[in-house]
Amino acid sequence: MKNQYMSYDESLNFLYEMEKSHPALIKIEKIGTTYEGRDIVLAKISKNVQRADEKPAMLFTGSIHAREWVGHELALKFISYMAENQDIDPSLEKSLSESTMYMVPCLNPDGYEYSRKHFSFWRKNRRKNHDGTYGVDLNRNFSIGFVKQSNTSSNVYGGEEPFSEAETSAIKGFVDTHENITLAFDYHSQGNVFFPAHKFMHEAELDGTDMNVLCANMNDEFAKVTGRKYGIHRGKPPAGLISGSGREYYYSKGIIAVVAEVGTKNIPDYMKSMSGSINENIPALKMAFGEVINYSSAAPSRVDEFTIEGVDASSVTLVWKYEQRDEIFFELYRSTKDKDACNERTKVGIVGENTFTDRDLISSTNYHYTIRAVNKNSGLKSPFAPIVKVRTALEEGEFFKLIFANKSGTGYVGENTQDQNRSHFGQNSLFVGINKSKGICDAVMSFDLDGIPDNAIIKSARFYIYPMNRVAAKIEKFGEWNLSLLEQESFSEVTDFDEMENAQTKGVIGRAIQSSSLTQGIWNHWSFSRHECKLLQEEISSKKVVFRIDGPKTLPDGEDSQMMQFDIGYGQFGGGIHYRPILDIKYTLENEKIKLPAVILSTISRDGAVEGLNSGFDNEGHRVYGYLNFDLSQLPDPESTMITQCALRIRNTNKFKKKSDVRYYVELVEVDAVGTYEDIKNREKIEYIGYEVAESDLNSKECQYFKFDTLSKIALDKIHQEGKTLKLVIKPTSSLGMKDRIVEWSSDAELLVKYIEKRRKPLVAVENLTLSKENKMIKLSWDKVQDKALGGYYVVRNSFHTPRHFMDGVKIYGGNDTWTYDNFSSFEKEKYYAAFAYDNVPNFSEPATIKYNPLEKY
Ligand SMILES: [Zn+2]
Repeated sequence: MKNQYMSYDESLNFLYEMEKSHPALIKIEKIGTTYEGRDIVLAKISKNVQRADEKPAMLFTGSIHAREWVGHELALKFISYMAENQDIDPSLEKSLSESTMYMVPCLNPDGYEYSRKHFSFWRKNRRKNHDGTYGVDLNRNFSIGFVKQSNTSSNVYGGEEPFSEAETSAIKGFVDTHENITLAFDYHSQGNVFFPAHKFMHEAELDGTDMNVLCANMNDEFAKVTGRKYGIHRGKPPAGLISGSGREYYYSKGIIAVVAEVGTKNIPDYMKSMSGSINENIPALKMAFGEVINYSSAAPSRVDEFTIEGVDASSVTLVWKYEQRDEIFFELYRSTKDKDACNERTKVGIVGENTFTDRDLISSTNYHYTIRAVNKNSGLKSPFAPIVKVRTALEEGEFFKLIFANKSGTGYVGENTQDQNRSHFGQNSLFVGINKSKGICDAVMSFDLDGIPDNAIIKSARFYIYPMNRVAAKIEKFGEWNLSLLEQESFSEVTDFDEMENAQTKGVIGRAIQSSSLTQGIWNHWSFSRHECKLLQEEISSKKVVFRIDGPKTLPDGEDSQMMQFDIGYGQFGGGIHYRPILDIKYTLENEKIKLPAVILSTISRDGAVEGLNSGFDNEGHRVYGYLNFDLSQLPDPESTMITQCALRIRNTNKFKKKSDVRYYVELVEVDAVGTYEDIKNREKIEYIGYEVAESDLNSKECQYFKFDTLSKIALDKIHQEGKTLKLVIKPTSSLGMKDRIVEWSSDAELLVKYIEKRRKPLVAVENLTLSKENKMIKLSWDKVQDKALGGYYVVRNSFHTPRHFMDGVKIYGGNDTWTYDNFSSFEKEKYYAAFAYDNVPNFSEPATIKYNPLEKY
C-alpha cells in the first residue's frame, strides 16, 4: 500500500516536471538543504508566477512530521488540481490571479524517507544529536515558547536551540522575507481536527473568529465530499501548551495560522481512507485560498464594537461602528450552532446601515452572530468581528432552566473497568464507545430537576455536550452515538456497567450522531421532539433525570478503538464550569383559572342607556350597543401574574327564525362614562377582540365565546397593570340594513381568564462589582442583592466588548455566592466582565460591568 505514496525523489521530479509544463503558473525554489543533503523545495503557484511575491499569499506546509504523509501527498495532488483547473474553474482562476500559493509539500524530507524505508512510525528529522541519538522534532524547534529538553531520544525533543535545524531555519527564512503571506496551513495527521493558532492565554483572540470560520467553511466543503466535519479546537483550558511549533511562529508574524490534523491513521489504506482525505481537502483548500486576499492590506478593515442593542422573544437587534464609506456594505451571519460556517448557508442579512434586526426567531434560543464589511467595488471582504452570542427572550408564559450535570451522578462505566467505574464519577471525562482495554463504555449523566415546578409543561429541550479535543481520540468512519433517557426504576446503581448497559430506555433523544459528525472541540447538541419533551416532563415528579450515551459495541477486524471523550467540566481533566453537559429546558406552567362576573351590563340605544345586555338594530335600523365592564382588581397581583388566555362568555336568550347576515364584534374601549348614545358613538376603540360571532352561531351554540387575540391580550394586560376597569362593547354589523333585530344576552356574562404566576420585572442590577487578584487569579466580588426573589448571579467575560447580555461571553460563574474567581484568564490581556442578578423565570437584571486593565494595579 505504501507504493501508492510518492517517494521524495519522485516528488521532486514531479514538481520540476510541473514547472516545465506550466512555466507561467509554477516555479520551484530550493529554500534549504537537509542534514542528509536533500533539497528542501517550495512551489510558488500563481498566474504570472514571476510576480507571485507581489500578491497576498497562502503558505502550505506538509509532513513536518515524518510519518504524517498526508501533507506531502495532498500538496502534490492540489498542485495537479490547480494546474488542470486554472482556466476552467472561475473561482480558482480568480484566486490564482489575485493571490499566490506557496507550498512546501514535505518540510522533513530526511525523516519522510526514513519513515518510508526503515521505520514508518518515525516523527523527527534525521540529525545526529551530540549524544548519538537521532532526530529533532521540527515542530518543537521554532522559537515561540521553545523549551530546551535534555532527553534527546524523546519523540518531541526540540533541539539545542530555536531554528537549530536546516528545515525550520529554511522555512523561517522564507516566511521572514515574505510579508505577503496572510494564511498558513500546516498539514499533519491524525484526528480530523483543526487546531488554529493561539497565544496560550486561554482567551479569545481578536482573530479567533476568523480562524474558526475559516475552518468551519472548510468543513462545509468536506461535508459535500465525504459527509465529514473536522473538529475545531483552540485554546480550551487546560490544554497543554505546544512549545516551539511552526503554527505559533507564523501566527506571531501576523499570519492566520492553522494546523490541520487529517485522517484517523498516519499512513492509512490509500484507497479506503487517504483518497477520501485528499478529495475532501482539495475543495476546502480552494475555498481557503479564495480568502487569502481578504486578509491582505487591500481588504476593508474589521467592523468595530459589534454588539447587541436589543433582544426580545423573536428578534435581535445588532449594532456596530464603522468608518462610513459609500462603497461598503455589511454581511451578517447567524447560526444556532457552535463554530459554524459563515457562507451562503448562514448569511442572514446584507445592509448598508450600522444596524440590523434579525426577526422571526424562536424564543429562548441561543444565536451566534458575526459580521464582515464588503467593498462593493473590489468585492474584497474584511476579517470577521468577534462572535456575539445572544439568547432570545422568553415569551410571556415561558420560563427556562439551564441545568448542569450533577457531579456525583455523572461519569462513565466500562465493561472491563468494573473496579474503577465508581471512581470515574464526578472526576473523569466521559469515554463512550469501545476499545480493546476498557471494552464497551457508556456515559451516564444525571440532572437534578428539583428547580422545575411540578406543574411545568416542557415546551422544548436541548442537551449540550462538549466532545473534548484530543489528537489521540481517533474516530474511524463507523458506528453512531445515541442519547437515551433511562427508566429510573430499571437500575439501582449508576456506577455499575451491567446495570447501566442493560437499563431500560424510555426513549432515544433526537437523532444518532454519526462518527463523521462527532467533532472535537465543537459543542454537540440533541434537540428533544415534542414526544421526548413529554418523557422528560414525566421525570419532574422524581426530581431527577438520568441519561446514557452509548456508542458502537463491536470493533471491526483490524481496529482497536472507537472511543469518543466528552468533557464533564469537573475533575482534573475537565475544562471547568463552561464545559459541563447542559440540559436547556423551556417550559410553561399549567394555567390557573379565574372567572370574573360583569359589574355593569347595559344596553345603549338612541333612547339612552338601560339595564340589561342587548345588542342589534332598532326598528329604524340604528345600532343598539351592548356595554359591559369588569373589575380586574380581583385578578392576582399584576407584578407576578401573566395572563395567558382570556375570553368573554355570553349566552343569548332569544333566537331568530329568519336568517340574516348580522355579525357581532366585541371591542375593548376607553370611555370615561357611559350614559348616552353619543358617548358610545364617539368611543375610543383600543382593540378588537380577535373573534366575531355570526348570528347563525346563536342558534347552534349554547354560549358564545369571544376569545382575546394577541394584541387584545396585550391591551388587557396593560389595563390590568394600570389597575383600570375593562370596558367592552358588543357591536352589531350587517350589510343588509337590518331593522328590529335585537339579541338579548343573559346577565351571567363572564370573563374567563387563564393566567400563570410569573415575575414580570427583572431584579435590580448588582452593585459594587470589583476586581482583585488573589491566588494568581482574577477575583470578582459584588454586593448581595437584597431581594427574596433572587435566584442567583451570572458572570460572563468578554475579551472585546462590555457584555450587554448574559450569553455574550464566556460564562465564569452561576450561583448564589457574591464572588468568583476567573480561573483561566490571563493577567496580561484586557477584558470586560458583566454580572447579572436573576430570578426564577429567569429575568436577568441590567448588567453591572467592569473592565480589567492589565496596566492597572488590583
Ligand atoms: Zn504532526
